Amino acid sequence: MHYAIISDVHANLEALQAVLAKTEEEKIEGILFSGDSVGYGPDPNECTKILKEKAKIMVAGNHDRAAAGMTGITYFNPLARVAIEWTREVLSRENVEFLQSLPLTAELEEDNIYLVHATPREPEKWRYLLYEYDARINFNYFKEKICFLGHSHIPFIVERFSGGEIKFHYHYAEIRKENRYIVNAGSVGQPRDGNPDAAYVLLSDNSVEIKRISYDIVLTQKKMKKAGLPAYLINRLSAGR
Ligand code: ZN
Repeated sequence: MHYAIISDVHANLEALQAVLAKTEEEKIEGILFSGDSVGYGPDPNECTKILKEKAKIMVAGNHDRAAAGMTGITYFNPLARVAIEWTREVLSRENVEFLQSLPLTAELEEDNIYLVHATPREPEKWRYLLYEYDARINFNYFKEKICFLGHSHIPFIVERFSGGEIKFHYHYAEIRKENRYIVNAGSVGQPRDGNPDAAYVLLSDNSVEIKRISYDIVLTQKKMKKAGLPAYLINRLSAGR
C-alpha cells in the first residue's frame, strides 16, 4: 500500500500539478481525495477534470456541494461566497453533475481507510476537527484504522493508542498495529498553517508523512486577478493564511 492523500485543491491548478508531478516520482499506487476541488481558485473545471481522472476514491467538500448548487451559501464568509458565485458561472454542466454525484464519505475496505471532508461524526454539517476533544469523539464514528480528512487546511496526524491516549504529530507518524489514526491532509491549493507550499500526505504500510511542495503561486495569483476574484483571496496564497 502506498497512497498520496490530497485535499482542498480549491481550483488551484498550479498547486495540483506540482503535487501530482511529485507523487509520480514517489511511485504511489493511487490518489485519495478528501474534497473541495473548487472554490477560491481560478481553474475549477481543469482541477475537477484532473481529480475525476486521477483519484481512486474521492468525496465532496462543502465548496463542491455549494458550487454544484446542492447547498446554500449563506453560511459562507462573504469572500468565499463571491468565489462560489464566480465558480457557479464558469463550471461546466459535466463538472456540476460530477460534483453532485460525489458522496460525503467513502471507504477503501481492503486498506482499512475511511475518507471524509469535515468530520466522521457529522459529515454533512461541515464542522472542524481541530483539537484533542474533537478527535477523541470522532474516533467513535468510523470503524477503519485510518481516517483521512481536510476542511481546516491545517495538516496534522492524530494517533489514538490502544489505551486511549491521544497524540498529535505534525510531520510524520509510524503506523502501529494496535493504534488508530485521523489524518488531516491539509490543503493543496490554499494552505492556512503559515506555510504557502502545497500540502499532501504520503501513506505507506508503516508510516504516514505530511509533505510540502512549492508551486508557481504568482501564476495562480495572476489568473485569479484576471478572473476578478477578491484581492484578499489572491494575497492569502503568498502568506499561507
Ligand atoms: Zn477547503
